[in-house]
Amino acid sequence: MSIAENIHRIENELAGTAARLVVVTKTHPVEKLEEAYAAGARMFGENRPQEMAAKQPQMPADVEWHLIGQLQTNKAKLVAPFVHTVQSIDSLKLLRELDKHAATHGRVINGLLQFHIAQEENKSGLSLDEADEILASDEFRQLQHVRLTGVMGVATFTRDEARLREEFGQLRGYFEQLKATHFANEPAFCEISMGMSGDYALAVTEGSTLVRVGSAIFGSRG
Ligand SMILES: *Cc1c(COP(=O)(O)O)cnc(C)c1O
Repeated sequence: MSIAENIHRIENELAGTAARLVVVTKTHPVEKLEEAYAAGARMFGENRPQEMAAKQPQMPADVEWHLIGQLQTNKAKLVAPFVHTVQSIDSLKLLRELDKHAATHGRVINGLLQFHIAQEENKSGLSLDEADEILASDEFRQLQHVRLTGVMGVATFTRDEARLREEFGQLRGYFEQLKATHFANEPAFCEISMGMSGDYALAVTEGSTLVRVGSAIFGSRG
């Protein structure tokens, strides 16, 4: 199936649910992104800041760029002029750095707190305690140019549906807890980014609002 057919099929599956599609374009050339754009995709996810910064000027201005991979603080300035959402917020230091660079461009950058939900140790992300500590700090409250809009997580790479359900449910639980304790009056805190090519359907039934899908659209990255 073509890129357009895959996008339309997934959009149809998501219709009537709370979830929207972030098309994950990492490693793919700009021509493929253009095909996805022509098929109606507007939210694009990349995992490397350099790669995203190289592709961004080649694409239409209404693309909403989501960074989904780890962002080192010294790379924040690469993406600050244009990034819509950094889905991989894992420290106060990163928030501070994004805030500083967003300010110089007169922008507000959205961020999702990334949580560690997988069994694999090598996957990154915060614990609930670490997130609470960031959110309770005076320093966080002073940031004017970053706005937290929700949470993100990467589940264990497995076909075990019970396991996946548990991890997605855990992330939704974190979201609800943070919403109640820190964002009760902030409707903008509303996103739960979970689900990839292999598990997005399950993630949607567990409350995902953003699915991040690459290989089910473009084929395997080889
Ligand atoms: C690559 C990637 C995806 C998309 O993975 P697919 O299995 O190709 O859909 C989603 N989220 C993150 C964080 C990724 O790095």
